[in-house]
Amino acid sequence: MSKCSCLLVHGENTIAYLTKDRRGLTELDCVLCGKKKKDIIRKKQTNQSRNRCECPDVSCCQPCIDDMKARHGKGHNGTKPPYTCKTHGQYREYQDSLIGFKDWCIVMVTISIIPLGLVVFETGIDLNWIFYSGAIVTIPCFPPVILSIIWVKATGKGLMSGGAAGLVCGVTATLVTASFYEGGLSNFLLNTVQNYAILAGTCSSFGASLLCCIVVSLFTHDIKTVDDENFEWQKMYDIENPLNPWELNYREELKGLEYEGKPTFEQMAETFRKAKLTAYIGGAICIVAFAVVIPGIMAMFPKMDLTQFSFWIWGTQIFAVIMAVIVIVAPMAEEIHKIMKEYRKSAHKMNVGYGQMNVINAEHADQEDGKTPVTNV
Ligand SMILES: [Zn+2]
Ligand SMILES: [Zn+2]
Repeated sequence: MSKCSCLLVHGENTIAYLTKDRRGLTELDCVLCGKKKKDIIRKKQTNQSRNRCECPDVSCCQPCIDDMKARHGKGHNGTKPPYTCKTHGQYREYQDSLIGFKDWCIVMVTISIIPLGLVVFETGIDLNWIFYSGAIVTIPCFPPVILSIIWVKATGKGLMSGGAAGLVCGVTATLVTASFYEGGLSNFLLNTVQNYAILAGTCSSFGASLLCCIVVSLFTHDIKTVDDENFEWQKMYDIENPLNPWELNYREELKGLEYEGKPTFEQMAETFRKAKLTAYIGGAICIVAFAVVIPGIMAMFPKMDLTQFSFWIWGTQIFAVIMAVIVIVAPMAEEIHKIMKEYRKSAHKMNVGYGQMNVINAEHADQEDGKTPVTNV
């Protein structure tokens, strides 16, 4: 349930982009004005300067700033004044309606989960069985998700056929392996979660999905040059909410760099090189630890005695507690750090403001002194 809610909440930006009521727009067009985007025109070297998007950046759009100020206070008769920005106003209204829709969606999903939970509870479905066999159904999704992020030649057809093929192969392999156990498929709940049935299911669902994704994508992509590749990446780069561009989140890190609207790939790569390296190294260490080292150590003890078992239990408990502390403390510390940073920033602004006020007052006083006689002092 919480997963669905999170998806709805975090999907807000993407939904705003995808369902904008501008039928027939391609990924090259601006969702605000419908004209061709600036950076794409520059890259494709087309001569459509008349049809070029001239929408101002939302962070420095004066009508938007005025709108926000006007709507900040209490509205007249409980209503807020309408948006007046010609570029972003309509989109802001659209987004407001989507946010209302999203809230209702969360409520509806939450309510509709309850009967589902009651049905599961009443039928007495074995949750352990769902946990084991559920992996076979969800694993085929991983290769398409990973490939869509890291491989430029992955196509929609490739990823969808890969997911479907993985699912079919995984379920078939599980059923076939389960039928070799005593009782076959008539002892369904027990035999489908036997070690080899799960192993065969997960391996073939992952393998078939990955293989099919790669093969079908290789036959269906139409990327021939480096330009095509860059153009393809640009699509992912361009997924954003025009009212909350992702560039805003990184503006501080990108300080000092010169770019128009959005930083280039090279600028992003250069700025976040350390973060990228940390992610690669951290990811590799995690994979080695959880997929090789820990299972390897476990394999050394096919049967544990009481001491070894209590060591293992203690180890897992300590690990769980440390992870829980990190999960609880790290976001809180980050939030506090951000609040302190904002506080310092605004305090600095206020000081500068007071400083200017003092200077102005002093100048004013000087002028007054010059003009008026001593009696005024
Ligand atoms: Zn535009
Ligand atoms: Zn605006």
